[in-house]
Amino acid sequence: MSGTEARLLLTRLGRELLAAVTVEPPALARVERVGAELARAHFVGEEVLGRSLDVLGARFASMGVPVSRMTAALGAFANGYLRAFRSWLLSEQESVRAADMAARAAIERRLRASEARMRGVFAQAGVGTGLSDMTGRIIEVNAAFAEMLGYRPEEMYALSVTDLAHPDDDPGMWELYGAVMRGECDSVRLEKAYPHRDGHTVWTNLNVSLIRDEHGAPQYTLVLVEDISEQRALQERLRYRAHHDQLTGLANRSRFFDALSAAFADHTSGVGLCYVDLDHFKTVNDSFGHAVGDELLTLAADRLQGCLTRPGQLVARMGGDEFVVLIPDPVDQGEVARIADAVLAAFAEPFEINGHRMRVGASVGVMAERADRASADEFLQAADTSMYWAKAAGRGRWAEFDPARGRREHVRAELSAAIPEALSGGQFFLHYQPIVELAGGRIGAVEALVRWQHPELGLSPAEFIDLAEDDGHIGALGAYVLEQACRAARRWFDRNPDQAPVISVNVSATEVADPAWLTRVLRILAATGLPADRLQLELTERVFMAADDGPLTALRTLAAAGVRIALDDFGTGYSNLAYLGRLPLRVVKLAGPFIEGIELCESVSATDIVVLETIIGLAHTLGLTVTAECVETPFQAEQLRALRCDSAQGWHFHRPMPEERASALLEQATPADPR
Ligand code: C2E
Ligand code: MG
Ligand code: MG
Repeated sequence: MSGTEARLLLTRLGRELLAAVTVEPPALARVERVGAELARAHFVGEEVLGRSLDVLGARFASMGVPVSRMTAALGAFANGYLRAFRSWLLSEQESVRAADMAARAAIERRLRASEARMRGVFAQAGVGTGLSDMTGRIIEVNAAFAEMLGYRPEEMYALSVTDLAHPDDDPGMWELYGAVMRGECDSVRLEKAYPHRDGHTVWTNLNVSLIRDEHGAPQYTLVLVEDISEQRALQERLRYRAHHDQLTGLANRSRFFDALSAAFADHTSGVGLCYVDLDHFKTVNDSFGHAVGDELLTLAADRLQGCLTRPGQLVARMGGDEFVVLIPDPVDQGEVARIADAVLAAFAEPFEINGHRMRVGASVGVMAERADRASADEFLQAADTSMYWAKAAGRGRWAEFDPARGRREHVRAELSAAIPEALSGGQFFLHYQPIVELAGGRIGAVEALVRWQHPELGLSPAEFIDLAEDDGHIGALGAYVLEQACRAARRWFDRNPDQAPVISVNVSATEVADPAWLTRVLRILAATGLPADRLQLELTERVFMAADDGPLTALRTLAAAGVRIALDDFGTGYSNLAYLGRLPLRVVKLAGPFIEGIELCESVSATDIVVLETIIGLAHTLGLTVTAECVETPFQAEQLRALRCDSAQGWHFHRPMPEERASALLEQATPADPR
């Protein structure tokens, strides 16, 4: 109510009062109503009634209202006011109470709704949830948790947390749980296995948190449980795959290397290894197909497993048809050998696959040594090497590693690997050994002999030619030698075309067998411009034992072009006289051992001389020239001359020498043509 409204109301009520009091008898009921109206208009302050009575009393007195009427009127006013005031007060109290009750009801409703929501969340959450008291008794679990372990929720209330222990539980896990129960930490996260009611294991991620009361004392533990069994199973599968061979189920390389390192952890113990390779596995694959090949590998894996004698030993598949048996800390010297024997015995029985009966043997490389004598890598390498020895020795057997042989082969392998670089780095060069005509002493030919100026070893060709042959470097080396030799011969030819010596170049049988060899020789001849009749190629009998006619055809082509073909080292190999007539030969070189036979006058055996005489005679009959090698003494030279041998080379005449010295020698012997 505004001030104006209040003034208007009070003015009206004042007038009504005066009117009611001034009539006779006074209208007391009206006076009462005015009092009541004042209270109903909310004039209910503490001083309202008292001050109103004061003001009215004073006004009535001034108007000369008799005391008795005045008293009756003031009483009626107070009555009316108080009655209305009380009922206002009551209604006011009532509305406060009602509002209070409504508020309480609303709060309770909200609380119930929130609790219901919480229960709903708890009950329906996908994550397992459980509450237990501080004695470990389970007092609440949701359906997800109960289902996870094969129970209904109420069945779990009979259980205690410790009833859900699992043999796989880490002891540390229960210590952590104890720490939560003692209030020492408020939450822990861990991986835990639970026993399912039907016996299988449920792997979970577990979050345990402590709920404290308002004084901070531990009251409950709340667990959140997530089923990770599938994830774990997947992890397990991946882990298994990472360590096992898919086909055979054996340990794979990676697991084998782990086991090998473990075997090497103790330096004082021994380690044994059998490196097993199936013999002719490729043939099985090629003739019966890969499915049969795979089946064979699986059966072989089983047989190998059967060879193990103690826990800790391991069979692994290294790939393809290669397996290893690891024997950590063998009980005695013989244990590894016994296992190698067992492996061979295991392969003695034929395999039956898809109605095919097949015998497949194995070659085994054996290495047994104390762990401090070799690294794991060297160890494996040694077993692998011995497996190749077993193969080379005829397969179906085992071979033990021999360090001396291993070193020799190692040096060979290193040398062989160094050949390409030595070629491009100019480490190969030629020496030249004059071949002297026994009749007049003229140098009719010069043999080119290759040398390797190795950074550490001075190597003679006998040491590296067969290496180069085995490892496929002979083609490049031979081409290099031929080109260098032809260039030198061309220089000699340019200086003195009439008296130029023939250059005699050694060629390995492997080179000649290469179909590209012929074109290579012709190209070098063309490139260096050396007349074909100034070139002699020295070959050994091996060339003529080739399976096909390729080499012979190539040699005939070269011979037809004018190149001289010489048979080197005659007398050391098969010395098959029948070759001599059939081949495009011009020269036979008698090998050193023949000549060695002609020692001192007294010791010359008549037979040696007869043999030499016969060979020389036969060669001459066939139109061939004979050269003797390794002539070291004047006596040998004399004897050969007497036997009508055509020419000779050897230390008695000249040692192999660098090009400059050979050039000087040639110029001395036959002065340059003055033209
Ligand atoms: P080879 O063709 O029979 O060569 C003769 C070997 O006897 C050479 O050894 C030579 O140095 C050596 N010799 C020469 N005179 C005497 C002597 O009076 N007494 C003794 N004891 N030995 C003498 P080298 O140079 O060590 O060559 C050995 C073999 O290596 C050669 O035997 C040849 O088969 C091969 N060879 C050399 N150079 C080449 C080449 O460039 N290519 C190929 N494929 N083989 C080569
Ligand atoms: Mg030779
Ligand atoms: Mg020779």
